[in-house]
Amino acid sequence: MIKAITGTKDILPLDIPRWKLLESVVQKKMGSYNYKEIRTPVFEETALFARGIGEATDIVSKEMYTFLDKGGTSLTLRPEMTASVVRSFIEHSLSAKQSLNKLFYVAPMFRQERPQAGRFRQFHQFGAEAIGSKAPQLDAEIIIIAYQILNELGLKNLSVKINSLGVPESRENYKLILKEYLSDKITLLSEESKKRYETNILRIFDSKEENDKQVMKNAPLLIDHLDDDSLAHFEEVKKILTIAGIPFEEDAALVRGLDYYTNTTFEIVSGSVGSQSALCGGGRYDLLIEQLGGKPTPGVGFAAGMERILLACENERAFEDPVEKIDLYIARIDENLTDNVYELALYFRQQGLAVEIDYMQRSVKAQMREANKLNSSFVLFGGGDEYKEGKLQLKNMSDGEQQLFGLDEKQSILHKITGK
Ligand code: AMP
Repeated sequence: MIKAITGTKDILPLDIPRWKLLESVVQKKMGSYNYKEIRTPVFEETALFARGIGEATDIVSKEMYTFLDKGGTSLTLRPEMTASVVRSFIEHSLSAKQSLNKLFYVAPMFRQERPQAGRFRQFHQFGAEAIGSKAPQLDAEIIIIAYQILNELGLKNLSVKINSLGVPESRENYKLILKEYLSDKITLLSEESKKRYETNILRIFDSKEENDKQVMKNAPLLIDHLDDDSLAHFEEVKKILTIAGIPFEEDAALVRGLDYYTNTTFEIVSGSVGSQSALCGGGRYDLLIEQLGGKPTPGVGFAAGMERILLACENERAFEDPVEKIDLYIARIDENLTDNVYELALYFRQQGLAVEIDYMQRSVKAQMREANKLNSSFVLFGGGDEYKEGKLQLKNMSDGEQQLFGLDEKQSILHKITGK
């Protein structure tokens, strides 16, 4: 038996209503902040992610699905969306048409991580990117959108963590200070952190190892070494979040170890999903577009993991699963009425109703059970004595009301069902 690949999941029809609900909350929220949807290919040239995410990251160094196509080009299934969006932004000169581009996406991502609860190899993210302005209002807007979506789904157990990374110049200075602090403590660090000491020193703050945490507890913090502009920017972001009523905490250990990240970083964490607790993360990347070959253009964005969000919703019973309904079930009574049932179904389907009929030679009783199971709002009976008199019976399943219609009164039936 061939099975789905480890770390991938089928989203079955029963799961779909929850996904659609999440997607509709996302679409609506993005619409109200005037973000426009963008869809890019699932695979890109490997070099895009190597440059756009950074060689030193776990994603690029360990987790990408990379392969050679028949022409010998190295391709990669996208592990995240920002690099693809920025590539598209540059390639299509979107800045020529619009000085600020506010974009969003909902799409599958691929990372060869060790699968566990809340961590998959194919998973889905929604996210937003605002490209073209340095305004701190946009940093705040990105955080507000992410938070409001989670909040509107009914999630409660959330914390918003924010930090500022400043600009590369002040960060380089700070890295020297951190290096100095760690210089006589290197032997206490984990192997991974020893490596990071050389390659990506800020990421030592990300370590989950107890020893590393002990060492880092008293480390000097980047936030205390920010330049004045970055500090002012950070203050403005916090001010707007406060006005918007977003509860947040500052977390000086929230770092992204890449030079093109600037100023704000943030993460929204849930206390309801176990160890893989980050539902969403993002920040400002004013140097990325240049890094990918575009004109210097500031940008800020976030990405949120949909499987994890739905898991948190399930664990918190944040919302009731939406019930899928159909409008009409047409039950067959006389066997020789099959054609008429088909004709009626065709008519109502053409009129836009969701209609089901019996294909299984079920008894009338079984057909009524089926109509119930499908949550049909109405049932139309064709057959029996009434049918011989040229009548159809329409039953409203919510209040049991029944009404007779002539066979030629399809329009009246339609009005009754749609209430129009
Ligand atoms: P990142 O792009 O790594 O900042 O991730 C953003 C969000 O995507 C995370 O907060 C998670 O919710 C989600 N995510 C990242 N990696 C995975 C994965 N392997 N499986 C499921 N969700 C993921």
